[in-house]
Amino acid sequence: MTTTAFLNTPELLDQLQSGEVTSTDLVTTCLDRIAKVDDHIGAFLNVDRDAALQQAVNIDERRQAGETLGPLAGVPVAVKDNICANGTRTTCASRMLEEFVPPYDAHVIQLLRQADAVLIGRTNLDEFAMGSSCENSAFQSTRNPWDTERTPGGSSGGSAAAVAAGMTPLSIGSDTGGSIRQPAAFCGVVGMKPTYGRVSRYGLVAFASSLDQIGPFANDVTGAAFLLEALSGHDQRDSTSIDCPVPAYSQTLDQPLGGLRIGIAKEHFIEGLDAEVEQAVHAAVDVYRSLGAEVKQVTLPHSQYCVAVYYIVAPSEASSNLARYDGVHYGHRATDFENMVDMYSASRGEAFGDEVKRRIMLGTYALSAGYYDAYYLKALKVRRLIRQDFDRAFEDVDVIASPVTPTPAFKIGELIDDPLAMYLTDMYTISANLAGTPGISLPCGFSSDGLPIGLQLQAAPFEEERLLRAARMYEREAEWHTQRPSVPSHSTS
Ligand code: GLN
Repeated sequence: MTTTAFLNTPELLDQLQSGEVTSTDLVTTCLDRIAKVDDHIGAFLNVDRDAALQQAVNIDERRQAGETLGPLAGVPVAVKDNICANGTRTTCASRMLEEFVPPYDAHVIQLLRQADAVLIGRTNLDEFAMGSSCENSAFQSTRNPWDTERTPGGSSGGSAAAVAAGMTPLSIGSDTGGSIRQPAAFCGVVGMKPTYGRVSRYGLVAFASSLDQIGPFANDVTGAAFLLEALSGHDQRDSTSIDCPVPAYSQTLDQPLGGLRIGIAKEHFIEGLDAEVEQAVHAAVDVYRSLGAEVKQVTLPHSQYCVAVYYIVAPSEASSNLARYDGVHYGHRATDFENMVDMYSASRGEAFGDEVKRRIMLGTYALSAGYYDAYYLKALKVRRLIRQDFDRAFEDVDVIASPVTPTPAFKIGELIDDPLAMYLTDMYTISANLAGTPGISLPCGFSSDGLPIGLQLQAAPFEEERLLRAARMYEREAEWHTQRPSVPSHSTS
C-alpha cells in the first residue's frame, strides 16, 4: 500500500478503483497521520476512528462484490463541527452544544453518504462560526501547519488545516463572511464558497441564514470540483435551495477557457494590503494575461461598506438564530437559578463565549425598536447596492480576481483582543456573501516568511463551472498547490 492524503482526488479515486489501494488502506493512512501530527495542529475535535474504518471496510467489501459505488467511494472527508450528522456529537465548538447529538443528518451529510465518502471526523471552528482564527473555539486553538505559532484562519480553520497537513484529502466547511476562503488562503489549500442556494443549508447550524453557505476544501481545484459536485443540488427542506441543474464540474475543468475576461477592482487594493500579497495577486493576473485572458478594470464602489453592512446583518440574524439556545429547547442548562428568566440568563451566560455574546448584543441592538430603521434596514439597502455593483461588473467580465485576505496568516494571540482588527481581515471575502455570489480561494505564492498567499476569484451567481475552470487554468500553470508544509510530528510507532 502506498498512498497519502496529499494525492489529488482523481489519483486517489484511480488507486481505489484499480484496487492498488483499498479504502481501508487510505483511511488507515489518514488516521495514522492524524495520530502523528494533530497533537501539534489541533484540527480535529473528534476523530471517528472506528466508524470511519467500518465505513471503509464496508465500501471495500461492496467494491469487491462488484457493486456500483458512489462518486467519492472510499475517500475520507472531514466535516466542520457545525454540520449535523445523525448520532454524532455536533458542538459548534461551544459549551452550549457540548453534549448535542443530532437525531438527523444534514443534507450534505446524506449526500456524502450517498457518494460513499468516508466521514473521518469533526473539525474545529470558532464558536458558532464567529471568528477568523479558530481562537474563539471553546475547546482548543488550531495551529497553522505552515507555522504553528500562527492561526489557520477561521472559522473553518480545522477543516483547512486538516487538508493542509495531509490528514484528509477533502473536508467541508461553512462560509458566512469568508470562513472557507480565508482559512484556505492561510493554509495554502483550495476552498470554495458556492452561490447562495447552490448547496442546501439543511442541518447546518445557523449563524446568519441569509449569508451561510457550505462548501469544499481540497488540495487542489480538481478535488474541490469533485466535492462540490457531490454537495450541490436542490433540497426542498431549505427554502433558499435553488432548483437548477448541477453541472459535472469535475469533468469540464480542463477544457480550454477561451476569451476569459478577468476583472480587477481598485477597491481591492487599498490601504492595509500587505505588499507581498498585492504582488502575488498581480503576478497571478499576469499569468492569466500570458494565457490569453483579457484583463479589465471594474469598479465596485460600495465595497467600502461591506464590513459595516456585514457586522449589522450577520449579528442581527445571529441574535435571532441563537435565541433558541435557552437551556430548555437546546443546549446547556445552568443548575443554579431562581426562576425561569434567571435560568435563561444563567444558561446563556455560562455557555456562550465572549465573541458570541458580543454578536448577540450587537444584533439585538440593531434590531431593536428605534434602531431597526437606522441600522438593520439601512444595512439591507446598502447590501442591495453591493449586489448591484457585482451585477454591473459581471456584465463586462467573467471573473473578478483579488486578494483573499489583506495579510498572510497572523500569529495566535495577535488580534484576539482587538475585535475590529479581526473583523477587518474579512474585508475582501464578505462581499461575496452579501451579494450571494460564488468565490474560490487558491494558492498563488508565499510570503518571505514562507506563509501561503491566496488568490480569490469571484463569478456571477451559479457560474461555479466557469469559476472552477478559470481557477484550474491558473493552477495548472502556476503549480503553487503542489507545495506542502513540513508539519511537526511525533513518532507513534
Ligand atoms: N470571520 C467572519 C465572522 O467572524 C466570517 C465568519 C464565517 O464566515 N462564518 O463573522
